[in-house]
Amino acid sequence: MVISRRHFLSGAVAMAGLLQGSRAAIFREGAAVSEKHFEVVDIRRTTVRMEFREVPRRNMDREIPHWRYSEICEVQLGCGAVGVGETLLFYTWGATTDAAVERARGGSAIQLMWDDSLGAGLQMALFDAVGRAAEVPVHALLGTKVHSRTPLSWWNIDTSAADMAAECQEAMRQGYLSYKTKGRPWFDVFEQVRTAAAGLPPEFKIDMDFNDTLRDADRALPILKKLEEYPQVDIYETPIPQGDVEGNRRITEATRVKVAMHYGNPAPATVVRSGCCDGFVAGGGAAKLMGTGRFCEQSELPLWLQLVGSGVTAAFSLHFGGVLHQAVWPAVNCHQLYERSLLTEPIVVSGGHAQVPDRPGLGFELNRDVMAALKVQKPVARPEPDRLIETVWSDGRKMYTANNGTVNFMLEAANQERYPFFEAGAETRLVPDNGTAAWRMLYQKARAGGPMIADGL
Ligand SMILES: [Mg+2]
Repeated sequence: MVISRRHFLSGAVAMAGLLQGSRAAIFREGAAVSEKHFEVVDIRRTTVRMEFREVPRRNMDREIPHWRYSEICEVQLGCGAVGVGETLLFYTWGATTDAAVERARGGSAIQLMWDDSLGAGLQMALFDAVGRAAEVPVHALLGTKVHSRTPLSWWNIDTSAADMAAECQEAMRQGYLSYKTKGRPWFDVFEQVRTAAAGLPPEFKIDMDFNDTLRDADRALPILKKLEEYPQVDIYETPIPQGDVEGNRRITEATRVKVAMHYGNPAPATVVRSGCCDGFVAGGGAAKLMGTGRFCEQSELPLWLQLVGSGVTAAFSLHFGGVLHQAVWPAVNCHQLYERSLLTEPIVVSGGHAQVPDRPGLGFELNRDVMAALKVQKPVARPEPDRLIETVWSDGRKMYTANNGTVNFMLEAANQERYPFFEAGAETRLVPDNGTAAWRMLYQKARAGGPMIADGL
């Protein structure tokens, strides 16, 4: 039996009893509410392999093809309510472990749900389950809803200029007003922004995450100043290493574009004192997110929700967007990458915003038919297909990179300054394995010594 919202909200005594694990059933208006209502009686996990849409596919396949693998977690409570959560298995702030599942079984979902150490999927499912059991939206469990609509961003990894322009158009067609991508030395960032911006109104924003690749303020500033000439360019994330407080302060001061850094490095108080960025990237579990939100509210700095996964994760993120006052930069959830949605209804975006759901739990239903169709064995380790990546410049130079076992092998090489530095004319693509000895030889050379300049196939 599912208790009613009225029972739940008026039941401060009931809540106290539940939280203290009282054995006594609490009666109100004839309905029995016991702690068994919120007891975790079953946890099921299903791994799915989600195919990317065509444009993300040819770009994600260079560096992070493993973003296809997601684990859906379903938590059933004693009252029958089933909550759903998701862990993007090989890109997450915390994977749900077998030990976490064992720990949660038999426990109170209310007591467990704020424990970030349970991992993304299990924690999300607990919030959804409690919300459904209590007939309240997740945002009511998090705090007070202060935004009825919350901004969302489209996302893609770095792509060719043509792919970026096409994706920006698709984003705009679907009601988005911002596009976030990576700034990388193996593409021509000027050509990317010029091409994409040509088809966009000034109110459609482009945000670029450099992940340290601009290295230092002296080298970063000429590039950032040139890109800021486009009115669409709105946020730069982590242009140089975040620990370089003085360098980041110089960049933040010099550009009209807003500068974002992942919360926590440098210490948030240092950010406020130094002015080394304009806002924070917020990620992690529910407790951490709310802590980040409180800091941002006190310091009056905007935050950027970045919870990555399919629509399930995006739905969870909407609730944080609803309660966090400073969640004013468009959330990056990456669910636009995938061909099929795991939700029965789409997250509708218009004017760059989505409605914060008021239906119970996440406010969206898992499409169990799609989940069944995409179900695969959980990989024992991160899948690591052989990949050979070719970068060419207009003067004919060719450079080859191969995967080497590290997750972001291209980013790592960029931050070791092994690529030419943001040279105009750079183009990068995956070289398909055509089964020839020549491909294999070039792959092996690139894997052993790359990135390296070499003749092509
Ligand atoms: Mg980032």
